[in-house]
Amino acid sequence: AQTGSGRTNQAGKATDASETDFISREDILKHYILYFRNLSCSGSATSRTMSLLSQLEKINSDSLAGEVENARYVTAKILHLVQSQEKTRKEMTSKGSTGIEITLSTLENTRDPQTTSNILNILIELVSVGGGRRASVLVTKGGTQILLQLLLNFSKDSPPNEELMVLLHTLLAKIGPKDKKIGMKARINGALNISLNLVKQNLQNHRLILPCLQVLRVYSSNSVNAVSLGKNGVVELMFKIIGPFSKKNTSLMKVALDTLAALLKSSKRAVYRGYVHVLLTIYVDWHRHDSRHRYMLIRKGILQCIKSITNIKLGRKAFIDANGMKILYNTSQECLAVRTLDPLVNTSSLIMRKCFPKNRLPLPTIKSAFHFQLPVIPANGPVAQLYNLPPEVDDVVDESDDNDDVEAESEVETENEDDKDQDFKNDDIETDINKLKPTQELGRPVEELKMYEQFFPELLENFQECDLVSKEPKPFRSDANLCGPIVVPTAGEEHCSEANPSVKEISLKESHFLLTEECNIRPAFLELPKKDSSKDSRLHQQNDQKTMIPTCQCLSQEIVKGLDRITLQNTAKNEQYFGTGCAIKKESKTSLTTLACSKPCEHVSPCKSSLFEGSPVQLGKLCCTGVDSEEDDDSGSNSSGEQVILEVSDISPVHDSDLYIEMVKNTKSVPEYSEVAYPDYFGHMPPSFKEPILERPYGVQRTKISQDIERLIHQNDIIDRVVYDLDNSSYSVPEEADVLKFNSKFESGNLRKVIQIRKNEYDLILNSDINSNHYHQWFYFEVSGMKTGIGYRFNIINCEKSNSQFNYGMQPLMYSVQEALHSRPCWTRVGTDICYYKNHFSRSSIAAGGQKGKSYYTITFTVTFQHKDDVCYFAYHYPYTYSTLKMHLQKLESMHNPQQIYFRHDALCETLAGNSCPIVTITAMPESNSYEHVCQFRNRPYIFLTARVHPGETNASWVMKGTLEYLMSNNPSAQSLRESYIFKIIPMLNPDGVINGNHRCSLSGEDLNRQWQNPNPDLHPTIYHAKGLLQYLSSIKRLPLVYCDYHGHSRKKNVFMYGCSIKETMWHTNVSSSSCDLIEDSGYRVLPKILSQTAPAFCMGSCSFVVEKSKESTARVVVWREIGVQRSYTMESTLCGCDQGKYKGLQIGTRELEEMGAKFSLALLRLKRLASPLEYNLPSSLDIESDLIESSCKVTSPTTYVLDEDEPRFLEEIDYSAESNDDPDIELADNAGDYEAANQEDGLSDSESTRILLS
Ligand SMILES: [Zn+2]
Repeated sequence: AQTGSGRTNQAGKATDASETDFISREDILKHYILYFRNLSCSGSATSRTMSLLSQLEKINSDSLAGEVENARYVTAKILHLVQSQEKTRKEMTSKGSTGIEITLSTLENTRDPQTTSNILNILIELVSVGGGRRASVLVTKGGTQILLQLLLNFSKDSPPNEELMVLLHTLLAKIGPKDKKIGMKARINGALNISLNLVKQNLQNHRLILPCLQVLRVYSSNSVNAVSLGKNGVVELMFKIIGPFSKKNTSLMKVALDTLAALLKSSKRAVYRGYVHVLLTIYVDWHRHDSRHRYMLIRKGILQCIKSITNIKLGRKAFIDANGMKILYNTSQECLAVRTLDPLVNTSSLIMRKCFPKNRLPLPTIKSAFHFQLPVIPANGPVAQLYNLPPEVDDVVDESDDNDDVEAESEVETENEDDKDQDFKNDDIETDINKLKPTQELGRPVEELKMYEQFFPELLENFQECDLVSKEPKPFRSDANLCGPIVVPTAGEEHCSEANPSVKEISLKESHFLLTEECNIRPAFLELPKKDSSKDSRLHQQNDQKTMIPTCQCLSQEIVKGLDRITLQNTAKNEQYFGTGCAIKKESKTSLTTLACSKPCEHVSPCKSSLFEGSPVQLGKLCCTGVDSEEDDDSGSNSSGEQVILEVSDISPVHDSDLYIEMVKNTKSVPEYSEVAYPDYFGHMPPSFKEPILERPYGVQRTKISQDIERLIHQNDIIDRVVYDLDNSSYSVPEEADVLKFNSKFESGNLRKVIQIRKNEYDLILNSDINSNHYHQWFYFEVSGMKTGIGYRFNIINCEKSNSQFNYGMQPLMYSVQEALHSRPCWTRVGTDICYYKNHFSRSSIAAGGQKGKSYYTITFTVTFQHKDDVCYFAYHYPYTYSTLKMHLQKLESMHNPQQIYFRHDALCETLAGNSCPIVTITAMPESNSYEHVCQFRNRPYIFLTARVHPGETNASWVMKGTLEYLMSNNPSAQSLRESYIFKIIPMLNPDGVINGNHRCSLSGEDLNRQWQNPNPDLHPTIYHAKGLLQYLSSIKRLPLVYCDYHGHSRKKNVFMYGCSIKETMWHTNVSSSSCDLIEDSGYRVLPKILSQTAPAFCMGSCSFVVEKSKESTARVVVWREIGVQRSYTMESTLCGCDQGKYKGLQIGTRELEEMGAKFSLALLRLKRLASPLEYNLPSSLDIESDLIESSCKVTSPTTYVLDEDEPRFLEEIDYSAESNDDPDIELADNAGDYEAANQEDGLSDSESTRILLS
């Protein structure tokens, strides 16, 4: 069973291991069968081999001269048997057999060439089959040493015995790859030059030099040997063999090429001699002459040589100088049509990527384009470094990037971070038991923690003022409508609602109550109003004196033409309605559309904005033109702006466009954004259709890379025009019609620069996190000015992560304003030809933390727009801004039933930029104000939840939205939950990061989820005070039952949790069993286990409870160890989709994320039942014990624990990164002397390797 799981969980390595296993088991089985068969029949052949071997053994011990004949006879007989019977071969090499020892010993002792020849032939026969295992046996029995010694002895004859030389080399070539030290052994024995001289002196004797070349190839894999052989002219010799072009002796040529590839790996000498040019010429010759593609392996061999010689910088330069890019580009274009030539195209592509000159990003600095002065500058760390940089330092690229010395030294140049990752496999696991044991120190004096008392008013509340005497909860007004139909407010009804505001209030509440346990059911989308109702609406408007500004209210298709921006001003000081927790008084809808044009547009009459006050807020690129609505025959869009807004603003019970604008006004961004992105304004509704995880089409990466290479080859075709630039406000926006317009000057936007590369292709550069020079992956920007029917290619060229779910079927998100106006206001997954790969832009060592020349990565995707003159938005994941959160909280507050739900929305603290960090308290009102009921109320256990410490992980906010809405819902389970717990929720730990479009950090330029051990009140106020709240709870002995921090995960699928367990951490170390005797309550597994049974997106198999050293300052570990919360978790939601459960094969959407948040809440209800004193008698359905046993068994596998909380080692490794690097020459080691097998090695297509690795 273990082998099986290894096979499915891991990539290549595990499979190899299990195959070896398999073979040896099979062998053992056969051995036994043989054994029993021999017992039954008085086996003639077997005993004959045996008796021959024992005769041979006897001959070895006697050294009588007369025995020579006998030895010849016996070895010839054995040879005959070995050649004719697999049975004999098995018998001689099976475990316990001394066959190999006896023959080797004979070989060592005999002086007779004939006997030697016989034995060499026997050994060759033996190792020719058996998958390399027998060759290994020969190596372990000391075969290499004996053969090298023989080689030395026989080479002294002049001329050497050709037959023996052929046999010796053939055998050495076969066993060499199994002996890692053969190169060294040969050098010490002085055997290197024997083979070389043989080749030199017998160039025409192909039978002899073929095995010699094979042996030389084995030797050359050792870099010292390669240098030594190189000095003796072996490279020149190989070139003699491979050129000039001839189709004769191709097998010899292939070996020579393979040898050459090994020799050229670090040879500056070869570069100086001009061999790069020679190799390219030979390659082109073969490319031209091999029109039937019969010599693919030769052509591949030449490419391998070019690949080797370009390992060093000098080689790459020579390659460029020899016009190598163009040559390989053109030849591979010609190969594209023939699928069998893929290995050539792939290897060419690999070489071209490697040689592509590294470019700097076209930026003045990679530090954020925005500056925010910190109140305190940390004494050390990355931010201090950044502040200490002299201003003249160009951090985009630096001198050290051009350093060649290191490369020349190393045998194989790698900048492969994956290698390094593998090195610290177990290093990250916390092994210090003292660091694992809970400390439960308060950390701050009790007196100081008193300041947090104000955040727990529920603990002091006596409700004497409240009318709660009745035992039954008062029926809420709209309870009667609980199961009723969704009220779809139409324009007609809107009329009513204005006549009677309370109607509107109820309808809001109703939609709120529709949050069901399943969380799947959403109010059906509102249909466009019927004609008559829209007429009503118009009538109504005309009756409404205040809103007689019809010219400004139309958001029709006409409008969306990228006209000048319009300032939207809002009259309503809505705060008065929202701040108090009273039921919302929804004012006249028309105020939503008090859009005032700041600039008169063509055929648009300007509106008077004098009616309105308040700070201006600009609404995206859409213009509220006042096209004469009467003339527009589309009743849907012409009716009025308010209708459009009505449609979309009611899509979610907690979305309110009007309120959103109000929230934006109080949101403080560093760039002082005044624009609002339409998706945030209109809101998002999950699409009704399924969005499957994309299957990656064949060769996408190759095609994209070849298009990138074309930039170098056809430089004249490149437009290279800046079309958006935050750093340079004076850049001119091109006026041409066919240039896309970009913008991201709105909350959470982070586009820095856009360069038009080709007519329909753009390079995009993201802004760094503020006070940092990296951390970008998140993106959110607006595009307009598009045409339909054209595939636009977008390349985001400064991504940093080494891999991405974009390689595994994830698509970016797009929001079309036109679609929103057509009643489909949704973010949808779009884009084709998506891939993520290392590009030719590199970072300075300053930016890469000292590592030189680290490359960036490109996300590329192609989009064809559906609507002309649309305004579209693209995002990494469903945006969820800080203003959105505030809007949602206001709505939740306004919609709740204060007699049923105790709800508080307070400000925990101010952030660095002066935004408030909301904290929410939710529980049930006490049943009455009787002593017992108030006591029950106060004594409910706490559940402490946080989210969005990482701004780029917007999915965490959607999960949190699901949790909040569920907790506030009218569902009976939600009521039970509220009656069971007090929920303290900080839904956004990093508001500043979210607002300013950061990916990872706060304004302090630091990852806030690494500051929990020692948060600085001035630099990390939200963390400092969130921890303070927990410390306060600890000081009053009210530790939360559960702490959970919601995150998003960019490299894994599904939703899963990380928790903390001493025992499970210890299992992963080699600590003695005594520490495993620790008694640890396994209760930390209960919640994830419940979730795995109830939440479809949740996957228990991805959970981990190991404490890593690198995570010691995360919320999860600190809350567990310092605060003492046993159930302290990080919950990670995928950005991509699911590969198990109900949503298998689908990309994740907000519906599923919100459901996850609801299911999480619900799981707490089940946990309550289990967390009672009966907890330790867990119901068998949970089966925690067997889980534990399972996880303790998995210890041997290094991939079962997760090293990195936010970015665990990627289990689905894709081979793309190796394509620009040098992979260790595996082919050489495994397939020496077996050329046919070698041709598959890197011929795998993107999709093929992906499939294999994913399976
Ligand atoms: Zn995170």
